[in-house]
Amino acid sequence: MSASQIPTPAHTLAESMLSRRFGRETVNYFSSSPINRLSFLRGDHPFLATALKHPATRFVLLNNLAPLTRSPAELYYAKYEEVRRLVPQTFFDQSEEDIIKNFDSRKTYPGLIFLGLDENRKEGGLAWKIYSGTPYFAVDVTPKGSQEQQAAANEVIKALEDKGLSFFQTRVVTTFSPDEAAIYAQARALNDWNNRNTFCGTCGNPTLSVNAGTKRACPPTDAARAAQGQPEEKPACTTRTTISNLSFPRTDPTIIVAVVSTDGKRVLLGRSKRFPPKMYSTLAGFIEPAESIEDAVRREVWEEAGVTLSRVVIHSSQPWPYPANLMIGAVAQVSDPAHEKINLEHDPELEDARWFDTEEVEEALRIGASDLGSNAGPEYKGGLRLPPPTAIANQLIQSAISADYFHGDKTSKM
Ligand SMILES: [Zn+2]
Repeated sequence: MSASQIPTPAHTLAESMLSRRFGRETVNYFSSSPINRLSFLRGDHPFLATALKHPATRFVLLNNLAPLTRSPAELYYAKYEEVRRLVPQTFFDQSEEDIIKNFDSRKTYPGLIFLGLDENRKEGGLAWKIYSGTPYFAVDVTPKGSQEQQAAANEVIKALEDKGLSFFQTRVVTTFSPDEAAIYAQARALNDWNNRNTFCGTCGNPTLSVNAGTKRACPPTDAARAAQGQPEEKPACTTRTTISNLSFPRTDPTIIVAVVSTDGKRVLLGRSKRFPPKMYSTLAGFIEPAESIEDAVRREVWEEAGVTLSRVVIHSSQPWPYPANLMIGAVAQVSDPAHEKINLEHDPELEDARWFDTEEVEEALRIGASDLGSNAGPEYKGGLRLPPPTAIANQLIQSAISADYFHGDKTSKM
């Protein structure tokens, strides 16, 4: 495990008043994509139609959310010819207005998402107004939908697998380079959200992917209804009468926190029953409606460990596309030793929670950090185990034990 497992974009090295005051920004795995999303071009169908057909354009393919790869460490970027059988070249030829107007729920299409332009790959790329680079899309090649779509998907999959490529099945991807992990995270999160929202949450009728795969609409008419002798016009749905007439992708904010003792010499870590032996991590939980991030941190730590926090500092965040979390990382401190007493009886979510000395945590970061599913490294001697650097938990723990993060003053009461 090395530091290069997390992204190191140039802006983290730039000097500014804020970087001097708060230190270097931590950029977590699954974030900091090299792709410029250009979200304002998602409704521009001439742009999308041109991007889809451009020879430089590349496609990230997902089969039941498993990414197509050359090896477990490398995504495969397909060319249009390789998905042509499944993705009609005319996909973006109609305006969004016309697509909604001509909606027919009997016709099915594969999920197609515009991810953005890689502006570092301009050579031979697409130039559109002032923007240029290599366009990237994600395609859901899972065999589903109409029989015709299923047959096309199976053909596409077979041809790719015949080339020695495979869909990488794993619980959480940690083997891609930081750039590829961020591209995959965007593709996976949006693909998964589209799959879960094929029916309107308000009226129960089929929805339609719009805005290049980043929104879903509940169209006012459906030609399939006319074929069944019903009026083509659907019953009123409030999603069409209010300003928020579309479904937007969901992101579930979650807090995750490294807690430092009053004297600054210990870190609070907990373990859940599903962890391998000796593995501990930072505490985490969902933010509730009408709750601030700081309040959620204090509530979760008290509920799960009985510890009462004082100052909470937001540290960094990590998209976690399994399926739609945003991990908001914090470092927090207890201001009174009496508040450090652990009580696991409020919410029995954790099997154990403990204060660990800085030295023990330092050693675990060095020789005992690994994925939940992997063995610790060769130097591991049987002590504390911690999550790998690709998890924000690891980055938070590093900061919590670092004197630098506390400006050399680990005993101040923050
Ligand atoms: Zn509806």
